[in-house]
Amino acid sequence: MKCLQLTVICLFLSVISTYGQTIQDLINEVDLTTLTQKVNEFSGEQSTVVNGNSVTILNRQQANNDLAADYLVEQFEQLDNLTITDQAFNSNGRNIIATQLGKTNPDNIYIVCAHYDTVADFCADDNATGTVAVLEVARVLSSQCLDNTIVYALWDEEEIGLRGSSFYANQAAQNGDNILGVLNMDMMGYDGDAPGTPGDNEFDLDVRDFANSEDMMNDIIAVLNSYTFDLSVVTVNPGTFSSDHSSFWVNGYSAVLLGESWETNDQTPFYHSSGDRANTIDFPYFHELTKLVTAYMATSGGLVDIDNGITQTPSMLTANQSSASYQWIDCSTDLAISGATSQSYVPSANGVYAVEVTSGNCTERSACVVFDSLGLNDFSEDEVEVFPNPVSDVLHIETSINQNLDYNLYDISGKVVLKGTTTDRLNAINVKSISNGVYFLSLWSSEKRGTYKVLKE
Ligand SMILES: [Zn+2]
Repeated sequence: MKCLQLTVICLFLSVISTYGQTIQDLINEVDLTTLTQKVNEFSGEQSTVVNGNSVTILNRQQANNDLAADYLVEQFEQLDNLTITDQAFNSNGRNIIATQLGKTNPDNIYIVCAHYDTVADFCADDNATGTVAVLEVARVLSSQCLDNTIVYALWDEEEIGLRGSSFYANQAAQNGDNILGVLNMDMMGYDGDAPGTPGDNEFDLDVRDFANSEDMMNDIIAVLNSYTFDLSVVTVNPGTFSSDHSSFWVNGYSAVLLGESWETNDQTPFYHSSGDRANTIDFPYFHELTKLVTAYMATSGGLVDIDNGITQTPSMLTANQSSASYQWIDCSTDLAISGATSQSYVPSANGVYAVEVTSGNCTERSACVVFDSLGLNDFSEDEVEVFPNPVSDVLHIETSINQNLDYNLYDISGKVVLKGTTTDRLNAINVKSISNGVYFLSLWSSEKRGTYKVLKE
């Protein structure tokens, strides 16, 4: 039983990221906790696991950064739909590159990139931030079908002459690769204020008149203005050559540098020193910038409009996307369920299920959802009461049953947004932080169950 529970928890952690239907949904998936943890891991502030060993990444300078490179390979390996290239370009240099092939126009390539090497220890801002942002964009987008190809690239030896990106860009130009835009991130975690306090949230976009770089900058600003970000753009034209985007400029490609604002003297005072540590990073600001980059990459990549959500009733699971092909999956084994190929699925046992939805040449997999309503009787009205409804802040569960009840709160697409166990006759669940909308509260004891529709407003 313990094993089963662990499996279920692991599945939730690993698949919850596959959720996302619109660009706004994908923006919402960019996760501050993940960003914070990975910057701390990658800049050596806390240990992590690489090659199965608990390690601390103490050094990312060029001849000593193989552990960092291995970490990046493993981060990409955890994601679906990526082809990973460990590109050695000299005796020390390793670019770590993951490619997500476009479903409609695979020859149209957009690159989101950052350098991962350093000049000193730690170097959280320069450039664990850019590196971790690339990983987070990959985490969010790799579960989605996109028309165009996205290349997630992490360059080595930037600090000693843009060597990794030069090697790649020269080779791409020789091959005639159709790279339509390169978004380079270098130092994106400092806002001239104490970490965590509200700053002016200005950031720089550096461009020059190479290829369509200026159009690309305008496209990024259009995305900035289409969704809500706590950011203020500063355009720098002509922009600096001093990072990897310029390797693409000189090869005739469109490229933009995004990062904290040197133009307004808002950059880190710990530049190129071992004082550049994670506790100087303004993570909410870094989070906003990563959300913007995710939205731009999803837009330029051409997000294919497939809804991979599931709607759940006590007897049935239904894929939200109609007019598609379906394959239902048992998440506890990760195997396809024989014959379960309709839009709806009626489980014969309680369990954890997902669906793969195929439309055209695009297949997306849903999150795993818990289905636990079979074989139990409903609670009577005097046994369980759920109130108030609608609810804004605190949902109460009042029960006359002499037993603790487990509960899940599902959103309309069947995703669990809250779970727990009652401990008293009157229980309070804080729902203030969840979005407004319709939810289903599923409650169960060892003998009985109940499902309650709840409106959050
Ligand atoms: Zn840098």
